Amino acid sequence: MMIHSQDRRNHDTPTIHDLIQQAADILAHARRLVVLTGAGISKESGIPTFREAQQGLWARHDPQRLATMQGFLADPKLVWDWYQFRLGLVEQAQPNPGHRAIAGLEPLLPHVTVITQNVDGLHARAGSHQVLELHGNIYRFKCLRGHGNLSMADLADQKATPPLCPHPNCQALVRPDVVWFGENLSYSVLNRAVAAAEACDVMLIVGTSGVVQPAASLPYNAWHARARIIEVNPEESDLTDLAHVYLAGPAGEMLPLVLAAMSDQQAGAVAR
Ligand code: NAD
Repeated sequence: MMIHSQDRRNHDTPTIHDLIQQAADILAHARRLVVLTGAGISKESGIPTFREAQQGLWARHDPQRLATMQGFLADPKLVWDWYQFRLGLVEQAQPNPGHRAIAGLEPLLPHVTVITQNVDGLHARAGSHQVLELHGNIYRFKCLRGHGNLSMADLADQKATPPLCPHPNCQALVRPDVVWFGENLSYSVLNRAVAAAEACDVMLIVGTSGVVQPAASLPYNAWHARARIIEVNPEESDLTDLAHVYLAGPAGEMLPLVLAAMSDQQAGAVAR
């Protein structure tokens, strides 16, 4: 297990136990926490990440065909079926201990915002209340003429693949309400995410390679605002150099340990 900490005060290499205590201490004092997550947080729920060499989704599938507007217009059925396949994976998945630990921070801290690049809805299912979904949600659909907020139930009567918009006199093709490569993020969601990153005093980054913009800039917003930064990822990412504490391990193991250390510290403080 790799260890890394900008908080090192001497030349002794901190143990993972030390780093977990440091992360717990920083989090326990957070007044405004932002948790930024990527595909890695959901890996232990059985949902593949995008970029990892062997198992990543895009190692086996061509994003130009499956996750762009051009790909959808060229072969709407292929793209629709691909997202239905992924929706099936997500429906079978359960939130893992990493998602649950993040939800478990809410009752301990005054203000927690989760910003996720994931479209799987697992943070909300784990019990997080304030979740900004930068890249949309795989359970939601919209038509090419802009009628949005459609659910599978709204499309249930449809025989066409992909379905056609059920709004009166519309009939435009329906697509998943996720952000494809080359598309803009929702202006309002992105604005709220940037504001949260600029206002936070602690940012916890979990399971993102830090290469997809604009999400990858949010830790820089936090860093410039002098927030303390903690990262959890088994591999170093493009964001690791920003981290004051880097926990090199899977989120489903590291985050429950951090939460337990926070509870122990709190219990110790009460006992004293
Ligand atoms: P990414 O695939 O680029 O990177 C995944 C990161 O997670 C890597 O840095 C990897 O080392 C790390 N990781 C792997 N296992 C982990 C674990 N157990 N705990 C913690 N970290 C772990 O993903 P990204 O940075 O989120 O960016 C890619 C895009 O992929 C995003 O736009 C996102 O919308 C999309 N995506 C979403 C889902 C989902 O909704 N679950 C799944 C795949 C991809």
